[in-house]
Amino acid sequence: MSTCGLRCIKLVYEQARNWFLANWDPSLSVKNWWRLLAESGWGYPHWPVGQFGKSMSRQEHMEVERARVSVGAFGVPNDVSVTLVAPTLMEHGNEILLNRYLEPIATGQEMWCQLFSEPDAGSDLAGLKTSAERDGDRWIINGSKVWTTGGHASRRAVLMARTDPGADRHSGISFFILDMKQPGVTVSTLRDMTGDEEFNQVSLTDVEVDHQDVIGELGEGWRVAMTMLQHERDADAVGHDGGGDVINQVDLTAPVGEVQDEQKQGGTTSGFFYATGSVKDDVTFNLLNQLAPNRDPVLRDAETVAKVNRNLLDLNASRDLHPSIGKLLNAALCRELRDLGFAAGPASQLAHGDAIDEGHFLKSGLFASGMSIAGGTDEIQRNIIGERVLGLPREPAVEANTSRREP
Ligand SMILES: Cc1cc2nc3c(=O)[nH]c(=O)nc-3n(C[C@H](O)[C@H](O)[C@H](O)COP(=O)(O)OP(=O)(O)OC[C@H]3O[C@@H](n4cnc5c(N)ncnc54)[C@H](O)[C@@H]3O)c2cc1C
Repeated sequence: MSTCGLRCIKLVYEQARNWFLANWDPSLSVKNWWRLLAESGWGYPHWPVGQFGKSMSRQEHMEVERARVSVGAFGVPNDVSVTLVAPTLMEHGNEILLNRYLEPIATGQEMWCQLFSEPDAGSDLAGLKTSAERDGDRWIINGSKVWTTGGHASRRAVLMARTDPGADRHSGISFFILDMKQPGVTVSTLRDMTGDEEFNQVSLTDVEVDHQDVIGELGEGWRVAMTMLQHERDADAVGHDGGGDVINQVDLTAPVGEVQDEQKQGGTTSGFFYATGSVKDDVTFNLLNQLAPNRDPVLRDAETVAKVNRNLLDLNASRDLHPSIGKLLNAALCRELRDLGFAAGPASQLAHGDAIDEGHFLKSGLFASGMSIAGGTDEIQRNIIGERVLGLPREPAVEANTSRREP
């Protein structure tokens, strides 16, 4: 990672802005734009040189994003594959895995999902029961997963399964890459209260995984999963301002400018809250300006609290503090923005064509509580902050050798 002073930061911004001014073309297909972004290194500037990036620091990366937004260019895919799988592969994957999977991820060709949670293993993730048994060069997987976001549309998944039932809860787990389009994978969609069907229950019956598709060492799956969860909790790394939304909702052959226009109001339900920086604030404050231009003192007060929380979140990002702190702040901000929007008047609570923003805000509001659960609940983040950041005594274990969704 390079280090960068103020002058260098300005240079990064100018270079990036010049590149986007010269190359942004809304008439390109999404597919071709995403390829151009990936191959230029300006789509993933924080990834290593030679792996679709420019080895830039987090701060430099934020400048590139600022430059992109200033030109109005569409961002890279905002999907589990880009935000979680790629950085985990870079940390724990070998060359074969990187060569095989990084390019389709960087260019937005494949959507992935995360097969972690089970009906009896959510916060207590180490209690997972899905089994993987070795058969020569392959593994045979059996079990059931739940709350799998995007599972119905995914080409591949990352999967946690128990490879050594005799070992203790954490060391008997391994981390696999699973082909979702093979016999034995049954995906049933679950409808959430927004009316969307993004969640899934996934049952795995004698499903096969090639031994080469194990990420990290056998029995080291807990460590790999914790890397992925750290990225998931990193409120600043999840999603990219105004960028491409989950891949299954994007027509790759459509002109990128058209897809961008469709997503202007915050896009899909989850897209709105996964967006970083000021996008979700802008949507809410625009809504407030339309619905309650002369806000009463209570609404103004709530608006100030949300703005303070946004500043805290930005401060957290610039200081690179523990991801659980950012995750808690982000979840709180989502709830505050929801409450602000809803308090602005009944028009913010209408659905579909009657609504001021075609109902996106209502859906986002209903989805807001989910941000306090996904990737580990608020209570679990508080436990982690207490134990890992403040050094408080560990939570008493329910049984010997128990730990809950944390390293
Ligand atoms: C929007 C969204 C997307 C998701 N996407 C995925 C996905 O793609 N893949 C995937 O695998 N999972 C996914 N999940 C599932 C998510 O990871 C789990 O819901 C979460 O880890 C909580 O597990 P649980 O639902 O089993 O709740 P439980 O673990 O049963 O928790 C119930 C309640 O008990 C509290 N609690 C539990 N343990 C403790 C403790 N030790 N101390 C204090 N309080 C505690 C919790 O905070 C919670 O309030 C998603 C969830 C949401 C909401």
